[in-house]
Amino acid sequence: MRQSQLFTKTLKNDPEGEETKNAKLLIRGGFMSKTSAGVYTILPLGLRVLEHINRIIREEMNAIDGEELIMPALIDRKYWEKSGRWETDIIYRTGKQKAGKTEHNFSTEGGSASGGEYGLGWTHEEVITSIARQFIQSYKDLPKAVYQIQSKFRAEVRAQGGLLRGREFLMKDLYSFHADVEDLNRYYEVVKQAYVKIFERLSLPVLVAEASGGAFTKEYTHEFQVVNPAGEDTVHYCMKCGFAQNREIFDAKRHGDCSGKLAEARAIEVGNIFKLGTRFSESFELLYTNAAGKRAPVIMGSYGIGPTRILGTLVEVFSDERGILWPEAVAPYLVHLIEITSQKEDHASKADALYATLQKQNIPVLYDDRTGISAGEKFADADLLGIPYRAVVSEKTGEKIEIKKRGERDMKLVSEKELIQLVTGK
Ligand code: ATP
Ligand code: MG
Repeated sequence: MRQSQLFTKTLKNDPEGEETKNAKLLIRGGFMSKTSAGVYTILPLGLRVLEHINRIIREEMNAIDGEELIMPALIDRKYWEKSGRWETDIIYRTGKQKAGKTEHNFSTEGGSASGGEYGLGWTHEEVITSIARQFIQSYKDLPKAVYQIQSKFRAEVRAQGGLLRGREFLMKDLYSFHADVEDLNRYYEVVKQAYVKIFERLSLPVLVAEASGGAFTKEYTHEFQVVNPAGEDTVHYCMKCGFAQNREIFDAKRHGDCSGKLAEARAIEVGNIFKLGTRFSESFELLYTNAAGKRAPVIMGSYGIGPTRILGTLVEVFSDERGILWPEAVAPYLVHLIEITSQKEDHASKADALYATLQKQNIPVLYDDRTGISAGEKFADADLLGIPYRAVVSEKTGEKIEIKKRGERDMKLVSEKELIQLVTGK
């Protein structure tokens, strides 16, 4: 991509009204734009990062036999009433809608029982459980697991964390269905390991922390926590054995006989897994016939990850006073090619040729071909955008290219071939 043609531009100053590093840097870099409090537009550069995050999540969900689908965000009141969550939990509602000039009820065919009222989905247990009734009748239909990556809506009172706490945000939610508790327990561990892999691939060090199941379960649930001062949670954890627990339920006895010392730190919850048991299968009468011919409620689990919160977390973790340092696995581009203009020589054509070569090699490259901008400004933008490799072509570099890793000081003059080897590792 030629930077001169990019839809966005970088901003010189921090945006007003944003407190967090992730919001400031993502907005300044043109990765996102604030649409209203807690509601952000992900711009082309940001979407490239988000798509990497989603791809990694998808690959690991597919690897544990999760099948992807998409449920609607607009969910009829009747679903929420069945689970008893309409009055308590649904804040964003639609009522009468205007279509053209006439006002009429925005309702399903034949009118919904509730007069066409909808809630914007903040979670999807209700919808998926009622759909599952069509496909699960017998123990032979179990287990099953489906997931989606989709927008969720929550009336967060404090929407001041940038992408860490949105009112509209992206969630990957996986739902699993089992014949018995043993099978749920087995799959729960499988998902836990898949989550560990996801965060490893994202370069995010996570603690798997025990947390309270709240209204859902008396058992512990597990949160995936990234230790960081921007987090809203507090975790107690042991570096030696890996034990971790959310402060809300902290019980030092759970640490067992490990000799390691417990530390306490703020952390960002990037994922959360739950055993739902029969909470929703009972409300929605999702029953199956077991091997003995008896009807029993299906046992369920639900597993969330926040891709947009992860995007914000990556910036909180990987940034310095100049800007972002994207890990290679999620970087919007791998190489930031910078052409420094000179009157004497036509470096542009040299940089153009290198740009074409890198593209031919399928190396994702952002090419700063902008004219009338100083070298200093281009370098400052490169630091802000945080692309892993900066490659400079100028009068000084001659036939060679000056390469530097974001976050490192060392610069090296390399040939085109060496550059390709360096960035692809081949
Ligand atoms: P929190 O405790 O942070 O409010 P939660 O426990 O309510 O989150 P879940 O319902 O378990 O969150 O959602 C699953 C995942 O979705 C979370 O682990 C987080 O990554 C993400 N998430 C939840 N709420 C938000 C939000 N307001 N903005 C961005 N991501 C969110
Ligand atoms: Mg939580």
